Amino acid sequence: MDNKITNPCPVCKVGQMIKTANGWICNNFSATKFCGFTIYKEYFGQEISDELANCLISGKETKELEFNHKGKQFIASLYLHNTKIKLRFKADQAAIMNDACPFCGGEVLITEKAYICSNFFKQECHLYVPRKMANLIIDESILHELLKNRITKSYDFFFPEKGKFSGRLVFRNKKVEIDNSICQCPKCGVGAVYEGKKAFNCTNWNSELKCDFTIWKEIKGKTITESIVRELCENGETEQMTGFFSLKGEDLQKKLVLTHDNKKVIAI
Ligand SMILES: [Zn+2]
Ligand SMILES: [Zn+2]
Ligand SMILES: [Zn+2]
Repeated sequence: MDNKITNPCPVCKVGQMIKTANGWICNNFSATKFCGFTIYKEYFGQEISDELANCLISGKETKELEFNHKGKQFIASLYLHNTKIKLRFKADQAAIMNDACPFCGGEVLITEKAYICSNFFKQECHLYVPRKMANLIIDESILHELLKNRITKSYDFFFPEKGKFSGRLVFRNKKVEIDNSICQCPKCGVGAVYEGKKAFNCTNWNSELKCDFTIWKEIKGKTITESIVRELCENGETEQMTGFFSLKGEDLQKKLVLTHDNKKVIAI
């Protein structure tokens, strides 16, 4: 371990900064004036090189660094504020949303890669919303909706494996997620019905319950929409609808019904 003394501590101006396994720490350990100033060897996935540490110790702001921590990406510089190292996000011109952070009341910063709570770095708040999720550009109006209601209306998303699907952005355990559930599954009563590539299925298809509830996206030529799925699952049947075709090509009026025993969809 390189214990080379680099520079006087920028906080107490008495001790010297010493390099340890965990980073750089002020050696002013005197009981009365214990300083404790520390520069950790890593901040959100960004390793602190000797060069960066020396920059901070000399009281200067670092260059802009790319952080990448558990899927959270952002560009920011580090600087010393009073006795703590802080992040300065690379923000756009209109850097602050009008809406406060719904979790801590802090400012929500608009940065290049994400919307981030200004208290993010203090580890008190983890509000982080990427500017793009599953191909949806999350613009400020969508973010406003999310911050205000903690859930958005439906938007179109796209996953290569899954194709296009609709879903709503929600906060779950303070994390933003795409909720593409439409309603409760009428078969197992536990899972939720969501839109898959060819059909609407139950979220429990692969769990212990192995629920095989399925509504095909096209039934006798009629495209089945989310609102039809909701109506069918909640009421057990739909209103009479047009747009079903017979084999001869006649336009038929039918309604969809769930069978009582195994919740199969039939058109009658
Ligand atoms: Zn010190
Ligand atoms: Zn916050
Ligand atoms: Zn189910």
